[in-house]
Amino acid sequence: MFVSENLNTNEKGHLTIGGIDTTELAAEYGTPLYVMDEQLIRKHCRRFKDGIDKFYGGKGLVCFASKAFSCKEMCKVVASEGLGLDAVSAGELYTAYKADFPMEKIGFHGNNKTNEELELAVDLGVGHIIVDNISELERLEKIAAEKGKRPHIMFRIKPGIDAHTHSFVKTGQIDSKFGFALETGEAFDAVKHALSCKNVELVGLHCHIGSQIFDIDPFEEAARVMLNFIADIKEKLGYAVPGLNLGGGFGIKYLNSDNPQPFEVFMERVSAAVKKCCEDLNLDQPYIYIEPGRSIVAPAGITLYTVGARKEIPNIRTYVSIDGGMCDNPRYILYSSEYEAVVANKANEERSEKVTIAGKCCESGDLIGENMPLQHAESGDIIAVCATGAYNYSMSSNYNRIQKPAVVFVNDGTSRVVVKRETLDDIIRNDV
Ligand SMILES: *Cc1c(COP(=O)(O)O)cnc(C)c1O
Repeated sequence: MFVSENLNTNEKGHLTIGGIDTTELAAEYGTPLYVMDEQLIRKHCRRFKDGIDKFYGGKGLVCFASKAFSCKEMCKVVASEGLGLDAVSAGELYTAYKADFPMEKIGFHGNNKTNEELELAVDLGVGHIIVDNISELERLEKIAAEKGKRPHIMFRIKPGIDAHTHSFVKTGQIDSKFGFALETGEAFDAVKHALSCKNVELVGLHCHIGSQIFDIDPFEEAARVMLNFIADIKEKLGYAVPGLNLGGGFGIKYLNSDNPQPFEVFMERVSAAVKKCCEDLNLDQPYIYIEPGRSIVAPAGITLYTVGARKEIPNIRTYVSIDGGMCDNPRYILYSSEYEAVVANKANEERSEKVTIAGKCCESGDLIGENMPLQHAESGDIIAVCATGAYNYSMSSNYNRIQKPAVVFVNDGTSRVVVKRETLDDIIRNDV
């Protein structure tokens, strides 16, 4: 009935998440409120991990892409499930460090890491640094030499796969700010350089072909392109690259019309493609990494809002305004992303209207969505926007000096705050 498996209704006709009445959560913690179901997050971690065990003999690591949702408690949950982490900034690294995350299970990403960030990554002893470009490699070599360390690195490769279209196409020359190009020989030259360099150790190659991808074919194709490159390196440079990182990007259900493949099918098909390709190329099977972000957390989260104004503009549209908006969920204004919404205190009623849910910021584009089927919503009602667990809190801002909402984890009938709601004093804390 609802897009995410953890949502239901109770005997009062209220929406529940992980078995808890969402209207009670709104009353207890206030709105706007991010609510995440810890059990579902853990279940998703396990399904990916079990997929590697079952279909690839356990020779791999699932690294949660922390940019989708990062806070100390999330790092602790991910660590306790035995997953690794992908971090893309000093802030994400520091969050993991402060949560006692095992540093050797972290991959450090970014297309323009600063020297300070590289130094932090080397000092903290992250598992590997995914190097994006030659300037970064040169800077990292210098930093490593100064510190007397030999960090493990991977290279981010552009495999030339465009996964944004339904039938993927190989592009001749890819236009992307991320990574080394294969077809120009740039990637090969970088590998050659790294192998001659005594201050870094090349342990793998990485690719990430996009996000919210429903097709499995482009992932299989990316694996084949990368393995062919590994075979080429082995033949010409005599080095067997031990690791292959296939990135993240697995699609999730935002609307009932979305139809993502189960993670297990993805793991089975990609594992089979890697095994088959290794056999054909006479390569040892690499240790694989995957980096799911959205698929682990998005379906586990909802955002609760209180309805304020309702504006019916005859023959045009009805605006239902909420006490949040683009500050806590900028995905509509950024990408026109669509969501399912429910009036939490009327969740069993029919969604009889189509409305525009508007935020409270001073921007006309500050909407949660247009033409959204919804129960009749009036001032004081609680609206739940579903599948907001990824790229909502992590992309939130203080535009209009609006305080960021709290994040609450629910788990087996209990709830707890994992990120506190910002106060007005938080808003001015850096003002001098
Ligand atoms: C964003 C990103 C991910 C995660 O993507 P999702 O779509 O959230 O799964 C993984 N790896 C890299 C390098 C990324 O940039």
